[in-house]
Amino acid sequence: MNAADHPTDLAPATTVLGPPLVLQAIPLFAGLSDAECAALDRRMRRVDFIPQTVIVREGSADESAFFVVSGCVAVRRTDAASGIEFTLAELGPGQVFGEMALLTKKPRTATVVALEATTCAVLGQTQFEQVLREHPALTRSIMTMLAGRLDLANAHAGIDFLNLSRIRVDPRVLQLLPLPVINQHRIIPLAFCNNRLTLAMTNPNNIVAFDDVRRLLKGVMIEPAVITEDDFRRFMTGSYPQARPARTEPGRPSADRVAKPLNSTRPPAEPEPAVTQATQPDALSTVDLLQSDLIRELQLTAGAEVVETKQDLMSASEDAPIIRLANSILGLAIRRGASDIHVEPMEQDVTVRFRVDGVLQIVERLPRKVQLGLISRLKIISRLDISEKRLPQDGRISVTMDGKPIDFRVSTVPGKWGEKVCMRILDKSNTNIGLDRLITHAPTLAEVRELAAQPHGIIYVTGPTGSGKTTTLYSTLAEINVPGVNISTVEDPIEYDLAGVTQIQVKPEIGLTFAAVLRAFLRQDPDVLLVGETRDKDTARTAVEAALTGHLVLTSLHTNSAAAAFTRLGEMGIESFLVSSSTIAVIAQRLVRRLCRACREPYAADSAALAFFGLPAGTELYRGRGCVECSGKGLRGRIGIYEVLRMHAPIRSMVGSGADAQAIHEAGRQHGMIDLKNYAALLLAGGDTTVEEVMNVVSTD
Ligand SMILES: [Zn+2]
Repeated sequence: MNAADHPTDLAPATTVLGPPLVLQAIPLFAGLSDAECAALDRRMRRVDFIPQTVIVREGSADESAFFVVSGCVAVRRTDAASGIEFTLAELGPGQVFGEMALLTKKPRTATVVALEATTCAVLGQTQFEQVLREHPALTRSIMTMLAGRLDLANAHAGIDFLNLSRIRVDPRVLQLLPLPVINQHRIIPLAFCNNRLTLAMTNPNNIVAFDDVRRLLKGVMIEPAVITEDDFRRFMTGSYPQARPARTEPGRPSADRVAKPLNSTRPPAEPEPAVTQATQPDALSTVDLLQSDLIRELQLTAGAEVVETKQDLMSASEDAPIIRLANSILGLAIRRGASDIHVEPMEQDVTVRFRVDGVLQIVERLPRKVQLGLISRLKIISRLDISEKRLPQDGRISVTMDGKPIDFRVSTVPGKWGEKVCMRILDKSNTNIGLDRLITHAPTLAEVRELAAQPHGIIYVTGPTGSGKTTTLYSTLAEINVPGVNISTVEDPIEYDLAGVTQIQVKPEIGLTFAAVLRAFLRQDPDVLLVGETRDKDTARTAVEAALTGHLVLTSLHTNSAAAAFTRLGEMGIESFLVSSSTIAVIAQRLVRRLCRACREPYAADSAALAFFGLPAGTELYRGRGCVECSGKGLRGRIGIYEVLRMHAPIRSMVGSGADAQAIHEAGRQHGMIDLKNYAALLLAGGDTTVEEVMNVVSTD
């Protein structure tokens, strides 16, 4: 009966007990004396797990608690609705898991897997009871620990604690569940939209409640939020009788997939957000969380599904959970501000990764059984041929979220384990981030604005992929986009919509190349031309001709430094005298992640780092502590690093005579150019970013 004697089905080697010091390192036992720790340690078994061992399995019945002595484990739980396994938490030394089973003697509610070689001290039921008798003080420590663990698990599962007194609940939503069900499970329906019900629960692990609610509201997706018992009681005695109107209003469900509830009450009449912001300003974050649930606003733009044929309808992709899964992925990506989504079949699973602030991160590992349906679904809504799995394809999804149009550019490539889908998010409303938000250094901002006001010539914006060239180009264009200025663009792809601007997408397969479009534009005599990218000689030459015939041309070029642009143009076959006479400036740029304003803190920087950036010894730099605002990363959003090389007369003559990039760079510096490294130093000293961030982008030059 002693569970500790049969800890797991993959029972690893048991080792001899270690010294009591290890237990004392665990906060829970910090209050115990050496002798007490030693006594306790004698009761606990030390067990080693090799990586990927399942230490406890969801649903299994054993009643031991595990204290991580060394190593790292992942706590995972399967979502009953989708069958998807979510990682709730990763635990390291000093942290504990499995304690719920110890207290409740119920089956495991989560699976715990060793991520690396891990040693745990195992406390069984019998020993646990003995320990509590001998050390009553431990009870309090356990309570504190449990509260902490609950917090953590909830945070990682995306479940938030709510304070009901700060939320106005829509009476129509309240009527979705009958009073007996509300009382039995101590749950409160808060918001309902697009088939998702936000459900305040005193116990978010109450599986029976989930089942009962799903029986009443067929097919509903439940998004749990946690409330305290006290809060529930206060709400039911205070707000509930008032909030629930005596008469019911006629109305239709906001999402037609929801079946009429079994009881006689009526569903909400409109899909408007049911939870509204209360007056307290600190209620904002919680309410924000519910309202910013953009997934419920995610709707395919009308007509996007027209291409679905009868054959499509019979395919696995028409499975409703798959549709929801696909929508959730798109919605989540937008909500997290991702720029790319990668859905990649692997040997074991389908890995979903987002690129956020330029960094690719794993969001979810989906079971392989969803692969076919999910990939097909994404292909259908992107108007791709779902039967073609061997060739790469390109397409587009248009969605609206919160009334904002958002395009996804979708491409598929056949991979070893199936088709990989890559989606790039093109936020059309993101046209004008504002040059002043990109360029935080005032003199540089003024210089770029002055350059953009020139009547003719070429401005090149250079940098590697993902350095934000396009954003800078568009933001510059947006500033000079006034009535009376004739602007045309040729792009691949058209990333943002610009009002009042003629935008053309290149189609090389029909001869509509950058150069061909440019030549056509020139016949219409525009004032300003934006050429998405100068990739080839034809484009480069036509752009030069345009600049020399009185047009302002903005374009991007793939080079590391500003000065290297001239080398690149030379390689493309553009004569140096043409380059020197047409160019007015080259702007090199990078994007780095920005320090979180909420948690950045100064520190005494390493003297070598300061010297590298030419900063005086003793300069304080900044780093992020990590907080809720930045999801603990210490970094949030991005900031640009700029290097503006202007064509002062000496530099123009150097370019004309084919001087090398290094010499031009040096000459630029002598004429006051702030290079990428100097600019990075300004950002560092200003507490805008970290040494680690800028090292990646400036040390390679
Ligand atoms: Zn922060």
